[in-house]
Amino acid sequence: MDTDTISAISTPIGEGAIAIVRLSGENAVSIANQVFQGKDLEELSSHTIHYGKLIDPETDELVEEVMVTVMRGPKTFTREDIVEINCHGGLVSVNRVLELVLSNGARLAEPGEFTKRAFLNGRIDLSQAEAVMDLIRAKTDRAMNIALKQMDGRLSMLIQTLRQELLETVAHVEVNIDYPEYDDVEEMTNRILIEKSKKVLEQIEQLLETAKQGKILREGIATAIIGRPNVGKSSLLNALAHENKAIVTEIPGTTRDVIEEYVNVRGVPLRLVDTAGIRDTEDIVEKIGVERSRQVLKEADLILLVLNYGDEFTEEDKRLFEAAKGMDKVVIINKTDLPQKLDLEEVRQVAGDVPIIQSAIIKEKGIDEIEAAIANLFFEGDLNTADLTYVSNARHIQLLKSARNALQEAMDGMEAGLPIDIVQIDVTRTWEILGEIIGDTVQESLIDQLFSQFCLGK
Ligand code: GDP
Ligand code: ZN
Repeated sequence: MDTDTISAISTPIGEGAIAIVRLSGENAVSIANQVFQGKDLEELSSHTIHYGKLIDPETDELVEEVMVTVMRGPKTFTREDIVEINCHGGLVSVNRVLELVLSNGARLAEPGEFTKRAFLNGRIDLSQAEAVMDLIRAKTDRAMNIALKQMDGRLSMLIQTLRQELLETVAHVEVNIDYPEYDDVEEMTNRILIEKSKKVLEQIEQLLETAKQGKILREGIATAIIGRPNVGKSSLLNALAHENKAIVTEIPGTTRDVIEEYVNVRGVPLRLVDTAGIRDTEDIVEKIGVERSRQVLKEADLILLVLNYGDEFTEEDKRLFEAAKGMDKVVIINKTDLPQKLDLEEVRQVAGDVPIIQSAIIKEKGIDEIEAAIANLFFEGDLNTADLTYVSNARHIQLLKSARNALQEAMDGMEAGLPIDIVQIDVTRTWEILGEIIGDTVQESLIDQLFSQFCLGK
């Protein structure tokens, strides 16, 4: 394994004013010491922070004033010696610091290499390593919490427990094969095998159920605001964005450069779809036609359907309901400050069992209620989501599905009366697949591929 000293800019989430250049490896401290003026870093006790100047030993030039943290292994993230150089300057000066340590013996870290070392040195398991990556990408506090919990090993613990259960059944099968002459052993083995497999299967199913929510939290809920012209779609968008600090991201390379806008509504990340069409103050249906708006609707996870309180319920409104049939939606009856013309009873009948919220966005009324309705849709009833173990990683979901299928095959085999040592093959396979989630049975190549997806510097 590599033990050379690696370094990278490891800027904390959100790119603050402070940037960190991180070194990890055998010579982390001695390399930092070569360029640091103030104290002898080799002499300092571990996990302490020190002010000083970085001097280029070749030119004696001052590079930066910095704070340096010295952390001796194994009580570090990588279990190696780590030095973190905190620079207050912008990108240019941070790069100069990085270049300085690189020209004094460090090697530029590959993407994910710090985390890879943490994994290879047994500091974290694979699902925790992946959580680090999710953390970097987390868009809301809730998504961040999931990542943090996974990092702290909850998913791993659950998977370990399930594997243990399966291992016990395999042990029973072994006994059975060794002493086939005892009838009651076979009977007991079958019973235990079925019982335990059922239990594990149920837990896997449960984990998979959280996957939908987990994915949504990570990627944002694709949300479309629809409604006739002038009902207040843009106003609603602006109100949501204004209260929740919209993050606008451009995704180049698509057919047209889509503008995605994220707003964080009480921990639910909404990814507002095709907001350009709404921003233009032109109506989506009018502008791009019914076909295109159907497409937008098809891609959406959530519909915010806006109606006008001061206007009658029209055929066009009904068509919108028709187009959004069966989808998660919140109906917003806007402009309640105007004299009523809308037949609320009719709306209720057409809308069916969905939340209907009244608002006067122009008067800042009803926005809280709209937000609450959205949040309720996705965190229905359970304010204790904090205690759930979520699965949100695509690789984990894939593996859980394979594990479920393998175990289902084992149980089908049992029911069909297959010999127990045949059934055992599927149980063992399930055990192996679950192991891949936490990296117990993965091959080197998979590990490399995973870690290369990490951001540089983590
Ligand atoms: P859109 O075409 O659906 O995007 O509608 P807009 O958001 O552009 O709003 C159309 C007009 O209705 C604008 O003049 C808004 O100021 C106005 N408007 C928005 N919300 C309200 C409301 O709650 N009450 C009233 N009276 N007018 C509103
Ligand atoms: Zn508009």
